[in-house]
Amino acid sequence: KVDIAIVGAGHGGAQAAIMLRQQKFEGSVALIGDEPEYPYERPPLSKDYFAGEKPFERIMIRPEKFWEERDITMMLGRRVMKVAPEAHLLTFEGGDTLAYRTLIWATGGTPRRLSCPGNDLAGVHAVRTRADVDAMMAKLDTIERVAIVGGGYIGLEAAAVLTKLGKKVALLEALDRVLARVAGEELSHFYEAEHRAQGVDLRTGVDVTRITGEDGRATGVELADGEIVPADMVIVGIGIVAAVEPLLEAGAEGGNGVVVDEYCRTTLPDIYAIGDCAAHANSFADGATIRLESVQNANDQATTATKAILGNPAPYDAIPWFWSNQYDLKLQTVGLSTGYDMTVIRGNPADRSFSITYLRQGRVIALDCVNATKDYVQGRKLIINGISPDMQKLANAAVPLKELLA
Ligand code: FAD
Repeated sequence: KVDIAIVGAGHGGAQAAIMLRQQKFEGSVALIGDEPEYPYERPPLSKDYFAGEKPFERIMIRPEKFWEERDITMMLGRRVMKVAPEAHLLTFEGGDTLAYRTLIWATGGTPRRLSCPGNDLAGVHAVRTRADVDAMMAKLDTIERVAIVGGGYIGLEAAAVLTKLGKKVALLEALDRVLARVAGEELSHFYEAEHRAQGVDLRTGVDVTRITGEDGRATGVELADGEIVPADMVIVGIGIVAAVEPLLEAGAEGGNGVVVDEYCRTTLPDIYAIGDCAAHANSFADGATIRLESVQNANDQATTATKAILGNPAPYDAIPWFWSNQYDLKLQTVGLSTGYDMTVIRGNPADRSFSITYLRQGRVIALDCVNATKDYVQGRKLIINGISPDMQKLANAAVPLKELLA
């Protein structure tokens, strides 16, 4: 029997194991993951790792020996199929079992697939794991044209990398703008213009009806109007489905993710959930129950869960932040912009350095900062303190945001 079993050896799971030892927990810890690799960072998979600029060793969360030194039992390449909450028992693929006292579920999600014909042809790729990206990288030398389905951060970052590598890239977004789920219109239009200027054939409001193929390999993407966008490789970046089936089957409350309280406790006894798969009430979303897909959320919920397990509970209240690198543009976002009723732009997007402040009823709720780290750093305090700033000063990039704090 292991004292604490952690299922999912990604960002949240690795951080939970690290935090347990950091808080001097001396019991047994097992970190279980279905990928074969030791825990690694996912963000570089659509950025410098994909670009071939960073080797795998440099994206590992800790060196291999770290886990041994901390006496964390690594169970890699192992998939948990079933959870029995009353018996406190995990069942692996293959049938063997592991008993636990406390369980931390940190399984992230699986890439959503297209439902149209051709979605399973060779040459259709997702971007979630190292294996996904290695499979694409192995083919890059032999291909010229790539169609990316989905204009979220992952699709846009992949488009930037592939364009830099000299590929002809088409990016196909179903909604009327890219980043529609996470950002305001100004940011969407800025990135659309940037990608087009870099040579990406970026289209919004297009429906993919079929992946065309020949001899089992993708050759293009057919749109609703019958046009076929030719492609030697198709990348699908249309979101994830939270990997929570074993918990839901065991009776946990949830659906789109597993529901957790402010201490990351699920409704099942001694089972916590963290990271992409955890649906939680977030105070920066006005208390709405949401899943956040970010390294920040995975790491901070790992802290929340482990503190609660070790008898030192503190409710989850971390401010959301995120980043995205495309071309020479470093975007940093803080807060959550959903529900904004006004935006204020500081600086000039044409200068490639500006920020967008999102307000609701006069209060700052989020910032998107492009090559504007100062605004990012200073702006987060405006959000945390619920500041209603002077609008003229806010719009004046010469006035540092920290001056609006008072
Ligand atoms: P993961 O890191 O996905 O880890 C979950 C692990 O559990 C996986 O290894 C999975 O295979 C495993 N697993 C699932 N089910 C089982 C099971 N039944 N048994 C055993 N193992 C299982 N976030 C940012 O903040 N900034 C970025 O710039 C950014 N860029 C990203 C780029 C890409 C390409 C991707 C894919 C994600 C990016 N993210 C970024 C999001 C960030 O990586 C995730 O939010 C983060 O990894 C979530 O951590 P997690 O522990 O919840 O899940």
